[in-house]
Amino acid sequence: MSYPRVEVDLKKIEYNTVKMVHLCAEAGIRIVGVTKVFCGMPGIARCLVKGGVDILGDSRIENLKKLKDIDIEKMLLRIPMISQADRVVDFADISLNSELDTVRKLSECALKKGKVHKVILMIDVGDLREGYFDEDELVDAAGEVLQLKGVRLTGLGTNVGCYCGVMPDTDNLGRLVEIKKRIDEKYGTSLDVLSGGNSSSLSLVQGNAMPEGINQLRLGASLCLGIGLNDEKIDGLYHDAFKLKAEIVEVKAKPTVPVGKIGLDAFGQVPVFRDRGIRKKAVCAIGKQDVNFNNIIPEDNNVTILGGSSDHLILDVTDCDRDCHTGDIMSFNLTYAGVLNTMTSEYVSKILIG
Ligand SMILES: *Cc1c(COP(=O)(O)O)cnc(C)c1O
Repeated sequence: MSYPRVEVDLKKIEYNTVKMVHLCAEAGIRIVGVTKVFCGMPGIARCLVKGGVDILGDSRIENLKKLKDIDIEKMLLRIPMISQADRVVDFADISLNSELDTVRKLSECALKKGKVHKVILMIDVGDLREGYFDEDELVDAAGEVLQLKGVRLTGLGTNVGCYCGVMPDTDNLGRLVEIKKRIDEKYGTSLDVLSGGNSSSLSLVQGNAMPEGINQLRLGASLCLGIGLNDEKIDGLYHDAFKLKAEIVEVKAKPTVPVGKIGLDAFGQVPVFRDRGIRKKAVCAIGKQDVNFNNIIPEDNNVTILGGSSDHLILDVTDCDRDCHTGDIMSFNLTYAGVLNTMTSEYVSKILIG
């Protein structure tokens, strides 16, 4: 038994996936299961496949490489580094793109390997992260991509709700449908895929407001944490498939105000304290190197997080129902960023259950 650890309930993730795959299927939408929040661990990715996703997607090639033995199409979600084009073609069947130079390089690499790499061109509908902002530029780029022999233009995509928090709606996702029409008319194509965003776009599916023609969503947060638009919980899904467990290494009654002159803490801040008398405090063996404490939530409502440093988490356990002892395990729920942090930390073991 090693701590700290993240315990992952595979049944809950598979359940969430089945639910979302069915919901979206009714709207004619197929799902890319996004694996980046758990760093592409194959044991968890298999739950998404069992749950019915068509494609696995990740933002990093290193993660897609871990998934190479799972026999399903792979999509690279972050627009590729041109320097990695060769590896993109090796480990991804499809990539999201917004730069012709990169697509040309992908085509070149694919040709050398005797492959055809699928390309989705990204449209920036307003969230100002990746994608063509200018519609004419996109239509021209599509024409150029269609000329390349090593790649196949399979569709258009967009991403919202990430950098600027722009919300998906019928208008901005509807633009994908219009631009596809322009491209199909101009070049005589019939693009297969309109990829209408991430878990935040599920709100449109639930509200029956997804524009006709959007036929793919790329889902991570909803499948893993049961959350969608604005991180709101989606009814009927599990929200606690990931739990963090940390071991208590000290329990002592101590003052709430430090003794001595206050300088900077370990992270260069001047800490502020409120005098709440003597409290019972527990120190856990996990720190900011593993997770930002804003992203963990004690399972016991009576436990509060006081703070900590790189390797220590300090809790107030005075009001805890049970008596806390050294060697006891404290349990925490995790936000999206909390899952990302802890799954990325090599000091946190990952235990798959179920
Ligand atoms: C991370 C990511 C997703 C998945 O987002 P969730 O909010 O986890 O559903 C989809 N598309 C792209 C391009 C991404 O980077």
